[in-house]
Amino acid sequence: MTVTTRFAPSPTGLLHLGNIRTALINWLFARTNNGKFILRIDDTDTERSKEEYVSKIKYDLEWLGIDYDETFNQSSRFDIYQERFEFLKDQGRIYPCYETPEELERKRKLQLAAGGKQVYDRAALKLTDQEKKDFESDGRKPHWRFLMKSESIKWNDILKDEIEIDLTSLSDPVLFREDGVPLYTFSSAVDDIDFNITNVIRGDDHTSNTAVQIELINALDKNNLVFAHHALLKASSGDKLSKRDNVISIESFRDMNIEPLAILSLLATIGTSNSIELKDSIEQIIKEFKIETISTSPGRIETDLLNALNKKLIQSYEFNKIEDRLAKVDEKIDDKFWRAIRGNLNTVEEIKQWTDIVYDSKVIEPKDKEFIRIAIDLMPDEPWDDDTWDKWTSAIKEKTNRKGKELFLPLREAFTGVSQGPEMKKLIQLIGRSKIIERVKL
Ligand code: GLU
Repeated sequence: MTVTTRFAPSPTGLLHLGNIRTALINWLFARTNNGKFILRIDDTDTERSKEEYVSKIKYDLEWLGIDYDETFNQSSRFDIYQERFEFLKDQGRIYPCYETPEELERKRKLQLAAGGKQVYDRAALKLTDQEKKDFESDGRKPHWRFLMKSESIKWNDILKDEIEIDLTSLSDPVLFREDGVPLYTFSSAVDDIDFNITNVIRGDDHTSNTAVQIELINALDKNNLVFAHHALLKASSGDKLSKRDNVISIESFRDMNIEPLAILSLLATIGTSNSIELKDSIEQIIKEFKIETISTSPGRIETDLLNALNKKLIQSYEFNKIEDRLAKVDEKIDDKFWRAIRGNLNTVEEIKQWTDIVYDSKVIEPKDKEFIRIAIDLMPDEPWDDDTWDKWTSAIKEKTNRKGKELFLPLREAFTGVSQGPEMKKLIQLIGRSKIIERVKL
């Protein structure tokens, strides 16, 4: 049987690092097992689901290089959910309930006050046909629950060993809302069967759902699904990640010009027994992936870590790898320019600051004109090489008796307009003699 995994986001917001980590783990598991990876859009809640987010989810995956073999929307399968629902109903596993949300809430509060389990009390099972009719003639529509057996569900979780959940500790799940919308617990179980999913890998916030879904899957069909629940990533503060947390959305990192490989490297190693490090390529990530290394304790997202990986990645880029991207910033950027500047960049696009400094004919008025005049007088003739700066500044030092910061900072500021940056011995070669003379206003 072909290993088949799926990533099943609800299109109700932007994907964040936590969501993408789940996608990546499923994708890597499929790719390392010669399997299939499906993107399922969980959009049965048509009010909250937005087409805009479906496109963004697909764009994020594509941008990161996480390709899928098949995709579908749950909203295209309402008929099938209805059909399976009728099947369960025929088996006597479905019952209508008429409680309003307020009534259910009141029951929960009473159970809480009495110190008992907050589980649906199955009062609806005791309704007579007449009572049901009365509710309906009052205009109430039923929602439908799945009758679970009083049994324990056990499974061998790839990441958490054996898990056992007593179904009597859980409420019978609602499968269809009163407005006819199937709920996730049900549609997901139906799809996992129909699409021959072999491995469901998801966050451990779904552990009790799994018990319910195994019960459902058993009622619908025989199943041999394997489950794995990974610990969820947390924010650096230790809080839960939220879809409303746009600062950690993939889109925001893309807007900040963070490289996809930096994100993938972080997500492939965070919350695992391996150290967080930059990977050479997505192929290396596939090669090294082992699901057992995912740890059961939550990893914390440190954005500084992502920035550090990104900086390291940029420094590793050879000119020919990003020539086209650099040409979009400025066609004049060449190999020499790139090698001189890359060590100072946090993002590739930051190079714009340096093309402005090197190529623009901006005029700089130095603070200490007398000192700069001496420096310009001592400026060597071209051609310049890596030794020119040393020779030149030694001559200035000798003439002015300045040293250290007093010597170097005014020169840097006068020739570049900023007080920090790449090595001056490289920068002056890029700017060139005539531009330096032109630039400095004495
Ligand atoms: N739509 C569900 C979610 O985003 C999918 C969970 C699952 O993988 O089954 O939480």
